[in-house]
Amino acid sequence: MIGAGAAGMSAAIDLAQAGLKVQILEARRWIGGRMFTKHDPAINAPVELGAEFIHGRPPEIWQPLQEHKISISEVDGDNWCRESDKLQPCDFYSEVEQILDKMDDTAPDESFLDFLHRCFPDSPDERLQRKEAKQHALNYVTGFNAADPAQVSVHWLVQEMRAEEKIEGDRAFRAERGYAALVEIFREQLTRAGVDIQLSTIVENIRWSSGKVDLDGSDANGNFTLPGPKVLITVPAGLLQATSNQKGAVRFIPELPPQKHSALEKIVMGKVIRVTLVFRERFWDNLRPAPEVPKTLSDMSFLLGDNDAAWFPTWWTTMPKRLPVFVGWAPFRYAEKLSGQTESFIQQRALETLSRLLPIELPKLESLLEKIYVHDWQNDPFSRGAYSYVKVGGENCPAALGQPIENTLFFAGEATDITGNTGTVHGAIASGKRAAKEILHASPHS
Ligand SMILES: Cc1cc2nc3c(=O)[nH]c(=O)nc-3n(C[C@H](O)[C@H](O)[C@H](O)COP(=O)(O)OP(=O)(O)OC[C@H]3O[C@@H](n4cnc5c(N)ncnc54)[C@H](O)[C@@H]3O)c2cc1C
Repeated sequence: MIGAGAAGMSAAIDLAQAGLKVQILEARRWIGGRMFTKHDPAINAPVELGAEFIHGRPPEIWQPLQEHKISISEVDGDNWCRESDKLQPCDFYSEVEQILDKMDDTAPDESFLDFLHRCFPDSPDERLQRKEAKQHALNYVTGFNAADPAQVSVHWLVQEMRAEEKIEGDRAFRAERGYAALVEIFREQLTRAGVDIQLSTIVENIRWSSGKVDLDGSDANGNFTLPGPKVLITVPAGLLQATSNQKGAVRFIPELPPQKHSALEKIVMGKVIRVTLVFRERFWDNLRPAPEVPKTLSDMSFLLGDNDAAWFPTWWTTMPKRLPVFVGWAPFRYAEKLSGQTESFIQQRALETLSRLLPIELPKLESLLEKIYVHDWQNDPFSRGAYSYVKVGGENCPAALGQPIENTLFFAGEATDITGNTGTVHGAIASGKRAAKEILHASPHS
């Protein structure tokens, strides 16, 4: 098996528990992949560099956490928006919902931007509220999916919305100790099931024929070749799309059939830069949105910027936990401008944006900053992006990418999820479980 992320670990657990001998080759020095939690000793709390929220109540995550008595808390608090240079409570949700509800997967597929222009054309007598709601809908689709609105498929977004409805996906939760708690549960189960995990082991070639696989790669001891009857590939789509001279790229010998390449052409790795700012104190406890407003910002959960929030349009706190932490989220175009930049560049842009959105001067904010956490997933050779979305006409591509080949090559990972949850941890786990079933059902010589 290649990759010890959510998909690889969950597949390995199911396969080993069913009696198969499983070995995982993982390029990184850690397991978990894009579940990547650090612990900040100053605030004694987890800081997520990858996944943070549990979207809704997916059994793939809730069941193991509840079995291990890990407490799960729901995100709550006030949402504030900066509109027309004023900080005010956000009140656009129902109008945005009305827009999103108009998406239809029985009409021909189109991009979200085309849908918006077609169904809600700009007009001089358009209400200001509708104009703002359209912008928020655009920001939501871009932010949540890390997607280019001119490319992302409406059919795929509808599938995603339907899947979310089944699991109360409009609610968001966090586990005590963050996603590290889930990784620890998986680690324990892998150990108990006798799965062998080789870390710092990069697979470069998959040489295969029906019923036979040789994996070539490198580890601390140099180059290796590992033979086996089957392989489950769980690397992110970005690695399957990389050219063979790029680090982490996986090359198939012989090449994958054309259907896989067509599927990969319609799947995009979305881009995100997320920054976590740890401050000395919760300075916003005493901030008021304007001098005449009695309520402070102390219950702030989300903070949404207007178009002036040039670098990080979305922010959130750790509510209901009252930690001195702000997280900034820069998707798509914003991420493109920040990716590859130094940490101090990102820090400066984050602080500038926050001081523009909140009534606090930049020097004061700078003086309160204790620590910053950032991970550039776009430039990480083992992810090559944050998480995947699907382009117009590609709604069946996650399924096509996940299709096994000759009962020898099997595929999992969030980009292959067929439950409408691509781009999430629970989608990745579901894909791993689906692939484990396929392997268990595959007859060895067919
Ligand atoms: C910034 C960010 C925020 C996110 N927020 C959320 C969120 O709030 N909620 C949510 O549900 N999801 C979120 N996600 C998405 C979620 O993290 C992923 O969908 C999920 O973790 C993917 O799991 P996976 O097993 O498919 O892939 P991965 O976790 O990427 O696992 C694949 C593994 O393959 C390894 N690998 C790659 N190449 C090779 C190679 N050549 N040889 C050997 N090993 C290799 C990688 O190192 C990695 O460990 C977020 C992701 C990011 C980046």
